[in-house]
Amino acid sequence: MRPFFIYNTLSRKVEEFIPLKPGVVTYYSCGPTVYLPQHLGNMRSYLFTDTLKRTLRLNGYEVRHVMNITDVGHMTSDQDGGEDKIEKTARAEGRSPKEVADYYTGLFIRNIELLRIEKPTVPPGQFCRATEHVPDMIALIGRILDRGYAYVAPSGVYFDVEKWRGANRMGRLSRQSLEEQFSEQRLEHASDKRSKHDFALWVLNQPHHLMQWDSPWGRGYPGWHIECSAMSMKYLGETLDIHSGGLDHVPIHHENEIAQSESATGKPFVRYFVHNAFLVGMEGVKISKSAGRFPVLADLAAAGIDPMAFRLFCFGAKYRSELAFSLDAVRAAQTNLDYIREFARGVPESIAHSPDSDWVESWFDRFHEAVNNDLNTPQALAVVLDLIGEAYRRGDKRIWNAMRRIDTVLGLDLESVRQQAASAILPPEIESLRAQRDEARKRKDFARSDALRSELQSRGYEVRDTPQGTLLHRRG
Ligand SMILES: [Zn+2]
Repeated sequence: MRPFFIYNTLSRKVEEFIPLKPGVVTYYSCGPTVYLPQHLGNMRSYLFTDTLKRTLRLNGYEVRHVMNITDVGHMTSDQDGGEDKIEKTARAEGRSPKEVADYYTGLFIRNIELLRIEKPTVPPGQFCRATEHVPDMIALIGRILDRGYAYVAPSGVYFDVEKWRGANRMGRLSRQSLEEQFSEQRLEHASDKRSKHDFALWVLNQPHHLMQWDSPWGRGYPGWHIECSAMSMKYLGETLDIHSGGLDHVPIHHENEIAQSESATGKPFVRYFVHNAFLVGMEGVKISKSAGRFPVLADLAAAGIDPMAFRLFCFGAKYRSELAFSLDAVRAAQTNLDYIREFARGVPESIAHSPDSDWVESWFDRFHEAVNNDLNTPQALAVVLDLIGEAYRRGDKRIWNAMRRIDTVLGLDLESVRQQAASAILPPEIESLRAQRDEARKRKDFARSDALRSELQSRGYEVRDTPQGTLLHRRG
């Protein structure tokens, strides 16, 4: 097996990735808080997760991936300050918190689908909603309390950061002291906390809060951080291979997840912590929720840009580098997309289903090596463009098996592009026979379907059955 290398924020080094259990990767990535549309900067983060998953699969791993949907407990400040984000939107829009969460979850999933981002595999195709895992969070808070790393106060159950720090563990990921970690936060702490650094696991005595659950400590609702510890460990076990998120998660959210999980289990929580950098505007400003109007996927559609161009735009930059967003930059990616698709459309059926030429394998190796080198996707993209250029130069399109494997990582669905083009150029009478055959197959009239196959073959067409129906290609 070819080694796969990834930058681990825990060690500040690019490390060879070796999973705990051979052949299987357990992977948790932080998902959206569903109170606003996810902007393109957020989508870059999910595209990064998708590329990481696809690359792990290229390397033969089964990827067990969990992603959450935060629909309660994420306050307007990451350090428990302000108001619950979902409830703030609910009040502003005159809707219930569930209506807000359902609406923005639906919007998020449509964007995920438009960008061809694969859904989580555990549970299959499902995102884990925080509100559906409150009992798991309550159980985990109970374990932390039992081990003496949390305490109950009138305003909530808090994680005892000073006690955890006594064991010299807080700040391991961010490499910041507590004062540094929290210096930028305007702390609106409850007066009954032992230390201003302590963070809420469970919030009590907030009668105005709409979403409330019973707990051993009283009616209330969970803090933001506990959901990720509870859901990841529920589905993936107490030690995860990979945990990812945006760089902004390092100093607080992920530090707190480590503290919660490791204090409860006494085991290492995450082996490889991986973080992606931001999408920035042309002025170098982070495109963020606090910066006012920020672009979303629909803005690209309005500008006539294909979602796959944004996918390729993100692929063309290293995930650890900031990426400058502009419509022109995404249009440049659209040009590359058009070039790749144009090649795909020109690959005939006969070539698509025969072996590649001998010279192609070393190009695939170069692609594989690039993505295995800490996801060097710009280099990998350059290899793809050069490979197509080489095919044109040699007048040899026998590269399609390599392209199909490459596309398992690129995610552009090039085979469908090729098939659509291959079937779009049929004369009307052939198209009519094809439609009749699809109809016969739908009726399970196999005698008729076989007769039509023979008819098409006698007229010089190769006939292939695909999930999309009969595929024809003119022989020769
Ligand atoms: Zn999280």
